[in-house]
Amino acid sequence: MSDSECDSQFYSVQVADSTFTVLKRYQQLKPIGSGAQGIVCAAFDTVLGINVAVKKLSRPFQNQTHAKRAYRELVLLKCVNHKNIIFMYVADVFFPRYLVMELMDANLCQVIHMELDHERMSYLLYQMLCGIKHLHSAGIIHRDLKPSNIVVKSDCTLKILDFGLARTACTNFMMTPYVVTRYYRAPEVILGMGYKENVDIWSVGCIMAEMVLHKVLFPGRDCILLREDPQSFMLCKKFTLS
Ligand code: AMP
Repeated sequence: MSDSECDSQFYSVQVADSTFTVLKRYQQLKPIGSGAQGIVCAAFDTVLGINVAVKKLSRPFQNQTHAKRAYRELVLLKCVNHKNIIFMYVADVFFPRYLVMELMDANLCQVIHMELDHERMSYLLYQMLCGIKHLHSAGIIHRDLKPSNIVVKSDCTLKILDFGLARTACTNFMMTPYVVTRYYRAPEVILGMGYKENVDIWSVGCIMAEMVLHKVLFPGRDCILLREDPQSFMLCKKFTLS
């Protein structure tokens, strides 16, 4: 694509401390979250007439780990089609490095401390298990299921993000709200031993226990082990489940 063709299709906008260069069809970008791999914005897709999530991958080709992770996320998101796994509309990792996904309302960190009734709690749990069952049947093990990797809508529908991927070092974007956590990882994953699909069931158990108890089930004490894994931040807006 020539420079002038590129200029006519894309525009750049500053979001927090990052510049998003996106197709002009995506308007009204607002930051909604950030993880190890990049920053996520809500945007309005003027072609489809719907709100979407635009994720900018931070330096996908910086090193082999970043490249592998970006590649895995793309391949897996493209292959997996299930109502409890986030749906990807568009991916362009080469230029300008963004993924466009369906937009959800909040991540599970915002829900986990709510007083949920039995029906909502069971429904959330059921959807997590349906999503994981689908991943496992496709030979994919998540290994890092945690509340920030699970997104929900106010109608109580739930989808899994970021599956089958190892976490990488954090970006310098809004460091303060990052809370480093491996509370939900099975011991064999933390210790780098062999693991099977059941490590994801461990994580679901930890998440469910936290929903019931309103406190982390296994809050680790070893900050050296925990340091390299930034949990995503989310912008706190009022969120309720209907
Ligand atoms: P990620 O980098 O994919 O782990 O996402 C980081 C954070 O951005 C998540 O914890 C969510 O709070 C938010 N987020 C990511 N994708 C979406 C989405 N499709 N809809 C709503 N929020 C999202």
